[in-house]
Amino acid sequence: MPEATNGAGARADAEPWYAPGLRFSCTQCGNCCTGPPGYVWFDEDEAEAMAREVGVEVDAFYRTYAKHKFGRWTLEEVKVGRKYDCVFLTRDEKTGQAGCSIYKARPTQCRTWPFWDSNLKSRRAWAGAAKGCPGMALPDEERGTFVPIEDIRVRLNENPSGL
Ligand code: SF4
Repeated sequence: MPEATNGAGARADAEPWYAPGLRFSCTQCGNCCTGPPGYVWFDEDEAEAMAREVGVEVDAFYRTYAKHKFGRWTLEEVKVGRKYDCVFLTRDEKTGQAGCSIYKARPTQCRTWPFWDSNLKSRRAWAGAAKGCPGMALPDEERGTFVPIEDIRVRLNENPSGL
């Protein structure tokens, strides 16, 4: 029988590698909202919240801003050059800083980044993800907002997509 794990690569009774906490502060580079085609999964409640934020009916939201893939709903993307931007990605014309036009209603997948199971399963996975996300500090770096393990666990458990 396989050993019970806490969903982040550690034995259920062992301290995970990120027990001392991690540091993260988004720099608004926008890397996580663009790149190769990807998926931003959301559920019905999130669709309603996003539709309200955009100011459209839920049906119109699905038609305009979403697509159905693998039996689930994901946000639409817009091809910009060679990259695919999230349909809600904005860029400040002067500073180039990225933003999210539905920030207050962004789905859980976005809200819980980078504290996903796939990034927390090992130091190596975290370091790999940090190569594309300058907001993620490596465990020995002192920059960024400190996130204690209790908060990491909340975000980890909040994300239903198992990302
Ligand atoms: S890649 Fe990281 S630093 Fe850049 S916008 Fe996304 S979360 Fe922020």
